[in-house]
Amino acid sequence: MASATAFGSSISSYSIVSRESSVGSVKRQDASVVAAAAAVRPRGRLMLARPCRALEPTKRADSAVRAAAAVEASGAAVGEENTVDYEKLGKELEIASPLEIIDRALEMFGNEIAIAFSGAEDVALIEYAKLTGRPFRVFSLDTGRLNPETYRFFDSVEKHYGINIEYMFPDAGEVHALVRSKGLFSFYEDGHQECCRVRKVRPLRRMLKGLRAWITGQRKDQSPGTRANIPVVQVDPVFEGVGGLGSLIKWNPVANVDGKDMWNFLRTMNVPVNTLHSQGYVSIGCEPCTRPVLPGQHEREGRWWWEDAKAKECGLHKGNLKEEGGMSASNGNGVVTSNGVGGIPDIFETNTIYNLSRPGIENLLKLEKREEPWLVVLYAPWCPFCQAMEASYVELAEKLSGSGIKVGKFQADGDQKPFAKEELQLKSFPTILFFPKTMSKPIKYPSEKRDVESLLAFVNALR
Ligand code: SF4
Repeated sequence: MASATAFGSSISSYSIVSRESSVGSVKRQDASVVAAAAAVRPRGRLMLARPCRALEPTKRADSAVRAAAAVEASGAAVGEENTVDYEKLGKELEIASPLEIIDRALEMFGNEIAIAFSGAEDVALIEYAKLTGRPFRVFSLDTGRLNPETYRFFDSVEKHYGINIEYMFPDAGEVHALVRSKGLFSFYEDGHQECCRVRKVRPLRRMLKGLRAWITGQRKDQSPGTRANIPVVQVDPVFEGVGGLGSLIKWNPVANVDGKDMWNFLRTMNVPVNTLHSQGYVSIGCEPCTRPVLPGQHEREGRWWWEDAKAKECGLHKGNLKEEGGMSASNGNGVVTSNGVGGIPDIFETNTIYNLSRPGIENLLKLEKREEPWLVVLYAPWCPFCQAMEASYVELAEKLSGSGIKVGKFQADGDQKPFAKEELQLKSFPTILFFPKTMSKPIKYPSEKRDVESLLAFVNALR
């Protein structure tokens, strides 16, 4: 199943919740029902909750993640300490039931946490949330390409629980540009990452920017290639919350539950389910990219079946992907290929950002005078900090389009790394350089604030 994975949209409104009126309208359930739900306990192995680290750790990256692990949990429940050690909390909750974990998450974050609902069996998360008796929010990514059955399912879930799902939609301009230039089914030809980025990842990013925490339906047994190590709670290694990078807490309350137990729970509690399941679908995502699986096939075989089985993440849980081989995606000529390595999708892929090859950036370094200034990010596609600044860098490139300033990227990991360290002041990813019009030596962006306004202020100060 796809559960929270199948998601990928985003958010737009932060209000939500219960149709009955407001946060808090869901009533507490009968104690025996809660006890039954609490009995659904994870069976899997015990894992420490540990934030994802880039496989090429740097001082800055390590310290950022460590700092994030002690992030401030605003909205913490009455009596809860404001500063929480999420590694420690993850250890404590590793053997807790999904009900206990969700209860804790809702207690800590109140209206600043939301359940990511994909329209599949992750409806269990909503059932658990209801059982806690606490108010809760639910959001979904409407990619525009979902099955009709999934839309009907969304409607029945809203009615069943008396909630309004906060739908997130892709940016109309981005969908327009993608479909007009590449057609409706480009993902069959050049991979699903670009379409998923437009229809899922960016909307999700917008949604999460308004939250302090989110709840996903990821399970270890869903994808041995990418989900075997997901913790119950972690500092989100990829997405930013209201407080910026390292501030968003990601809860995976069913990480240790296996699919069979999820279904037993749904049946026992008489929870409405997507009718696609009765047609052989297990993982459910967009219609063109999801198909039923046969008995004995793994559920992820029903997703993006034309691509490498080990990398089947749509970008919503990119932190699950690891760098493989430690090599860059250089094609040997110094020209960077677009799809990354080991199935890790490339980032900053938009026609307003120039993809610089090694000779290209060497030329920039040589020029005493250039026709226009350049802003270039040195990045690695697997680096969570680079992934986290993708949206702002793309937006910046769009703002600067036609301004006379060129915006570029140079993939500087793997075999390009020694050159980048020697010649381009690379110490950690991402490194952002400004090449002024009249100087050969680039100026390094000194801050770790990578929002559009800060980057724009840097550019405007030097242009
Ligand atoms: Fe596009 Fe398929 Fe990704 Fe949906 S799952 S966003 S249709 S590539």
